[in-house]
Amino acid sequence: MSHDDFSDGWLISRYVAPDGHLFMTVLFLLAFLGGRAVYGQFRRRVRKLDVVVIGAGPVGLTATFIAMRSPRVGQITVYEESPREYVINSPYQITFDSTSFSFLETIGVDFNNMEGCHDLGLFYTKVGVYLQYILDQIQCTGHRCKVLFGAKFDKELRKNLERGNGRTLVIVCDGKKGQSASLLGLDEFTDQVSCHTFGAMAGIERPHLREVPTQEIRAHNLNFDLSAYGPYSQDQNGTSGFSLKIFGNSKYRYMCLAIRRCDSPTLKALRTILDRSMMRNIFLKCFNTYKLKTEPCLSESFVLNHMKYSPRLFEVRYTQRCETVAYFDDCDMFVVVEGEAALSCNFHTGMDINQGIRGLHSLDQFITRVTWAESEKSISSALAYKMQHSTKLFTSLSRDGMQEFMFS
Ligand SMILES: Cc1cc2nc3c(=O)[nH]c(=O)nc-3n(C[C@H](O)[C@H](O)[C@H](O)COP(=O)(O)OP(=O)(O)OC[C@H]3O[C@@H](n4cnc5c(N)ncnc54)[C@H](O)[C@@H]3O)c2cc1C
Repeated sequence: MSHDDFSDGWLISRYVAPDGHLFMTVLFLLAFLGGRAVYGQFRRRVRKLDVVVIGAGPVGLTATFIAMRSPRVGQITVYEESPREYVINSPYQITFDSTSFSFLETIGVDFNNMEGCHDLGLFYTKVGVYLQYILDQIQCTGHRCKVLFGAKFDKELRKNLERGNGRTLVIVCDGKKGQSASLLGLDEFTDQVSCHTFGAMAGIERPHLREVPTQEIRAHNLNFDLSAYGPYSQDQNGTSGFSLKIFGNSKYRYMCLAIRRCDSPTLKALRTILDRSMMRNIFLKCFNTYKLKTEPCLSESFVLNHMKYSPRLFEVRYTQRCETVAYFDDCDMFVVVEGEAALSCNFHTGMDINQGIRGLHSLDQFITRVTWAESEKSISSALAYKMQHSTKLFTSLSRDGMQEFMFS
């Protein structure tokens, strides 16, 4: 048989010839298409997704824990720029609200086996206790997960990622000041959302005490008499006053005061007049009135030396990244931004709450969609799914402001 016999023309004339072989042709085509679909299904089923997590804070390690449980995920690598001891010994306390608490329980976090304290549906623990627990779980499962401490994600690592084979999902959880999302090519633009609230924060360090997890204290409708500081008119009866939250562990105690935007003369005075002694006295009085019974009172001389505080009320604003998810076709890489790297509050107002954990509710579904996505349409639909979830979180914050976190 000559070479020409095998040309396309020969094949077509052999199989599509009008001599009764049409049936065979159709059968052949159907078998070919069926085989291709089955192969595609099989490839998708066995395909594993490599996951890279940047940042081993509460959000980064929770994201790792979620990814680790997914049968779709192969190798996981976590990069954390600080040394392990520094991360595990962070002095602050972390609070899980009831939504985050239930979500974490459903994914297998056993709060009964964690040092901490439950109160009114909230759970408080040292951030290091939570991180150590998750690290232990990661180690127990023997999953192919490497947590690299003292390893900063930088340009060099980004280049390595781009050279990799197969699909990668990068979960950026490098906190408020993180630069990794921009380094990976996501837009740097952020939006500021007003929470229609003004707030101030104070922090006290009591060096002689141990860091014992301690429940939060809330008080509402507080009014302050500022007549001793000048001719400030008093709030009328019935004006909704300030809300106070005392939080943190027994050694590092924090307070935040918040009030909804309104015409209160006290709000106006504390917004505009910079009198440090006025704010200091308000925080001192608040602490001594509402502290736990077991805590000692603070003296004026102690707060002078050991309390840091905002000198006036600031507008509470959330900063949100405009672009929190992207796909890079040339290196088959998805990037998603989570936690405080995506959404954070202005520091002076002390409204740090672990909102970021809520973004992770959609992570498991997103991982599945990312692994299965083949066509342009399914890739866009995976991105749209994650974007819709982020938008929902941002919208509820801008609509309800601090209602859930401060005023209820
Ligand atoms: C003083 C203080 C007190 C707080 N008190 C409370 C409280 O009482 N209750 C509460 O609920 N919340 C509290 N918070 C807030 C809480 O800590 C945050 O909401 C939470 O830590 C956010 O988690 P995250 O994982 O998004 O970011 P982070 O905890 O900031 O973690 C980001 C991690 O990424 C790492 N990183 C950054 N860049 C890179 C890079 N290029 N490569 C590798 N790693 C990188 C950082 O080292 C860091 O470990 C407090 C925060 C502070 C600062």
